[in-house]
Amino acid sequence: ASIFAAVEMAPRDPILGLNEAFNADTRAEKVNLGVGVYYDDNGKIPLLGAVRAAEKTRLEAMPPRGYQPIEGAATYNTAVQNLLLGKDSQLIANGQVVTIEALGGTGALKVGADYLKRLQPGATVYISDPSWENHRALFESAGFPVETYPYYDAATRGVNFEGMKAKLNSLPAGSIIILHACCHNPTGADLSDAQWNDVVDACRSRGLIPFLDMAYQGFADGIEADAVAVRAFSASGLQFFVSSSFSKSFSLYGERVGALSIITAAKEESARVLSQVKRVIRTNYSNPPIHGGAVVAAVLNSPELRQQWEDELAGMRDRIRDMRTSLVEQLKAAGVAQDFSFVIKQRGMFSYTGLTAAQVEQLKTDFGIYAVSTGRICLAALNTKNIGYVAKAIAAVVK
Ligand code: PLP
Repeated sequence: ASIFAAVEMAPRDPILGLNEAFNADTRAEKVNLGVGVYYDDNGKIPLLGAVRAAEKTRLEAMPPRGYQPIEGAATYNTAVQNLLLGKDSQLIANGQVVTIEALGGTGALKVGADYLKRLQPGATVYISDPSWENHRALFESAGFPVETYPYYDAATRGVNFEGMKAKLNSLPAGSIIILHACCHNPTGADLSDAQWNDVVDACRSRGLIPFLDMAYQGFADGIEADAVAVRAFSASGLQFFVSSSFSKSFSLYGERVGALSIITAAKEESARVLSQVKRVIRTNYSNPPIHGGAVVAAVLNSPELRQQWEDELAGMRDRIRDMRTSLVEQLKAAGVAQDFSFVIKQRGMFSYTGLTAAQVEQLKTDFGIYAVSTGRICLAALNTKNIGYVAKAIAAVVK
């Protein structure tokens, strides 16, 4: 018999399964709100002008393609640190930050998870309830038990912060806490600055290991403003982990550009930690690909391209905000009595709409509008052409 004869079919990824169903739908007016990707007003994934310019220069230079260092390019890693911690960060100056170039935010989480399993093998990992689905799968596959802390409060459509704080304050030392640094996926509900300080205090007093996931820097209020959680931890004197991604902020999804940063207590500690993280990488993919990181570094390290990128990022952010406002207005205009103004307050690409699984199903069957069964929709998939149709469809299913 084949060695694969007894292999079972793995469950389909719920969101990728949604894409397959969407692609198979023949209705012209169909809309896919299930994705986690930014589309422009024409429904296309943009290639940013700053990226285009950096790629042109790189192509003309025709650089050789030797191996990268295991940790990736220093020009890239330094640029990442400046973006996360601020270019005047004392931690960077002190050599307390270890950064490695990773294969997207997912790759950063995976390297971090594998390293943590060596550092803290008996720990339990806590993710928000709800969270990005892959958080659980990633840390489970690294060998950790994964549990949740309270996060979303459906009644207020905000964060159940008392519940979250109480849970954090009850955890054993050495527990690993995954935190969405901004633009919480899937709910769009973020902590306030004061609440972040409380989370820092809880991590300090309980001896927890914070792991911040920053996949959407620049999508809420801007590069600096969205770093508030990272900055609160960096001012705390604690050690912590940050995974970051340029998939969304540079619209470089398929190039797989991200980073893992680890904040240590001292420079000599950084050297030891880096040496261990490099072992994880070496036995996994050896060293990262060149292109995406080189493009991002070229943009971030050139004042002109950096400005162009920030402007383009602001354009994406503003367009999503416009879609939020417009959706709320159009729902009202379509006669929906329920107050949807919470959509404007949610941050990042997503909204937890409160639509039930049955309503989501009806959107699909009656209108060809695809969303996640939890009611999560991607605002960045709305545009001036399809928003009227979507608003009318939602109005029809909530009535
Ligand atoms: N973390 C969160 C919360 C995300 O939403 C995503 C992407 O959807 C990622 C990490 C991973 O991003 P990447 O595509 O860079 O691996």
